[in-house]
Amino acid sequence: MNVEKIMQNLEQKHPGESEYLQAVREVLESVEEVYNQHPEFEKAKIIERIVEPDRIFTFRVTWVDDQGEVQTNLGYRVQFNSAIGPYKGGLRFHKAVTPSMLKFLGFEQTFKNALTTLPMGGGKGGSDFDPVGKSDAEIMRFCQAFMLELRHNIGPDQDIPAGDVGVGGREIGFLNGMYQKLSRQYHTGVLTGKGETWGGSILRPEATGYGALYFTEHLLHKAGKDIKGLTIALSGFGNVAWGAAKKAKELGAKVIAISGPDGVCHIPEGITDEMIDYMLDMRASNRNKVEDMATKFPGKAQFTAGKKAWSIPCDIALPCAFQNELSEDDAKELKANGCWCCCEVSNMGCQPGAIHFFQKNGVLFAPGKAVNAGGVATSGLEMTQNAAHLNWSGKEVDDKLHWIMENIHEQCVKFGTQADGTIDYVKGANIAGFMKVATAMLEQGII
Ligand code: GLU
Repeated sequence: MNVEKIMQNLEQKHPGESEYLQAVREVLESVEEVYNQHPEFEKAKIIERIVEPDRIFTFRVTWVDDQGEVQTNLGYRVQFNSAIGPYKGGLRFHKAVTPSMLKFLGFEQTFKNALTTLPMGGGKGGSDFDPVGKSDAEIMRFCQAFMLELRHNIGPDQDIPAGDVGVGGREIGFLNGMYQKLSRQYHTGVLTGKGETWGGSILRPEATGYGALYFTEHLLHKAGKDIKGLTIALSGFGNVAWGAAKKAKELGAKVIAISGPDGVCHIPEGITDEMIDYMLDMRASNRNKVEDMATKFPGKAQFTAGKKAWSIPCDIALPCAFQNELSEDDAKELKANGCWCCCEVSNMGCQPGAIHFFQKNGVLFAPGKAVNAGGVATSGLEMTQNAAHLNWSGKEVDDKLHWIMENIHEQCVKFGTQADGTIDYVKGANIAGFMKVATAMLEQGII
């Protein structure tokens, strides 16, 4: 394989799809050496096949807003790779959603799902619908209109969507209700992230954040450190940031910053349980403003407009919001202020320049596809419960999540340990995920 040649070819075929091309380049650079030791991969043209989605559905979503105006959005589902199981991955509702964004997410999802040890292929979907400022009734009507189209392409053994940015328990409820109404199919495993009383896993809302902290603990232990007493700056205040803050506090760390598109809230004494609960209200309000935390807790949380969480001195940075949210300049600012570890919780949260800076300057770094895999892993556990018509306790799910995150960490160490003894977690995660999917493709022939 010649990475530059493959990338040139892809850039010509998919001009302007910057996020997708960025995600592909990162994986190819990581796996190049291992790939070239396997002539059977080259013969079956695994690389050329693995970088393209199996198919993409694009559809129009028309709905009526509270003023009675007709609105039209675009909806998508990218079915990326099914070599190790049915397509699995979230739905993102955000005004910036494009096919490029969903292709990058579907590509990442394929390798992330492979790391979870569960039999799930990769998929992703969503819409350019902007939930900010929408009423509950508008959200419901949009979800129903979206499902009018999506239902043709999903099913418990075919493609199982879930939440992502802009899609949480409320949206999954509206989507599932409409799916059942339209299809007259009542299998509980068509979507994951469901409510507790209708097939959901009791721990799914917390799972991404909890899993990220379990991974961080393993990474710290491997480096001879302990999480207790460390300060953490995290970005966002949605479902993932909420779960991460909850577990970080429980493990004895101090979350001293959360952020939003409007700025950062500095919480010098550390986030409290009341503040963590309030993050849920902030998400449900659809206002998308972190300033609300400072208004609700004056004196405890100080808001600065236009600043990122990375401007607050901390030990550990946890990007929990959006792709490319942490730039090289942010990485330099973090390091200058004493930060020595960054675990990426958002998908591709760090720009390539930031990752290189961290790795070159001794800042421990682990990529999103390993760190945030606890979310989709718990979706996989939810599917198992649904298929068996069972309900597991929170402890049972948490124990399994613990084991999965430990296993992912071990895979990273196995494939990412370098000659000098350091661990390249980016390489480790990419090689481990890639080898599993590539081998499955090879064994199933040229299809
Ligand atoms: N959207 C989440 C992710 O990026 C979860 C997907 C799922 O649960 O299927 O992994």
